[in-house]
Amino acid sequence: MKQKALYTLLAVSMIGAGLFAAPQAHASKEKPVIGFSIDDLRVERWTRDRDYFKAAAEAKGATVSVQSADANEQKQIQQIENLISRKVDVIVIVPFNAKTLTTVVAEAKKAGIKVISYDRLILNADVDAYISFDNDKVGQMQAQGVVDAAPKGNYFLLGGAPTDNNAKILREGQMKVLKPLVDKGDIKIVGQQWTNEWLASNAQSIIENALTANKNNIQGIVASNDGTAGGAIAALNGQKLAGKVAVSGQDADLAAIKRIKAGTQTMTVYKPIKEIATEAANLAVSLVQGTAPKFTSTMNNGKKDVDTILLTPTMLTKKNVDLVVKDGFYTQAQVGP
Ligand code: BGC
Repeated sequence: MKQKALYTLLAVSMIGAGLFAAPQAHASKEKPVIGFSIDDLRVERWTRDRDYFKAAAEAKGATVSVQSADANEQKQIQQIENLISRKVDVIVIVPFNAKTLTTVVAEAKKAGIKVISYDRLILNADVDAYISFDNDKVGQMQAQGVVDAAPKGNYFLLGGAPTDNNAKILREGQMKVLKPLVDKGDIKIVGQQWTNEWLASNAQSIIENALTANKNNIQGIVASNDGTAGGAIAALNGQKLAGKVAVSGQDADLAAIKRIKAGTQTMTVYKPIKEIATEAANLAVSLVQGTAPKFTSTMNNGKKDVDTILLTPTMLTKKNVDLVVKDGFYTQAQVGP
């Protein structure tokens, strides 16, 4: 056989085997394939997000491939690259670091994949949509909850992870409530710090140091979620101050609900995970199928005004904490008497 004919035969059989074919079309629009890249499944709330999201997406005929980056920036980028090479239709991302996904999001878009920023906004990237709770309002509720319990005194602001855009929005919301009271002289902010990776153990040492520096003279701790609130309360406990200092949170973690009932945590913010996960699954499917989702606003991420859906949070204190049982978030047995 002549060499040219041999090459032709080789090429024809390679096309037959799919090796030379144009990039595969994405999976059928009826059955979209969704990649869900989650910052850290070791944190209680995200396992719920995963479960509700999967259930809602599968009910719509989609399949979901979940990845946990375990709070590792590089790992998350590699996992997203892997989802791109598997030609999923849409990638839903809870970013660990808001600022380091610009390139990988561009790669996804180039490959014709839609990208949704879930709960936390990805900055400086061409994302198609953002869905979250109204984090500014969450921040206002946290500050208001602490102010209601401790209207005057020394405050410490315990921020979330510096890599998370939500941590900054929460702080802005908190300051809307606190600034007038600081200006009036009712409240003095004696310290503030971000908590790396939102870790309870980091929060505990921050508050231990703050208590030492202020000779235990702190009346309010504006903690940005329940995990860090738990760390703060462990530090207060070490000084026999748990229950005497007002502490905020968010997520309605089971441990936080129990602390609110016991009186050691002042409030939390209930954000129905089923709602965000279901809305996000619907959003993912409709972006793939080209139907128009209903957005509530836009949010600028440094690159563009991103189409946004913001859901409504609810403040929980000892008075209305049973809402989590009424709403089916927990059973009465889980929450206790
Ligand atoms: C979420 C919180 C969560 C925190 C730590 C934030 O971006 O909005 O609900 O507690 O991350 O995972």
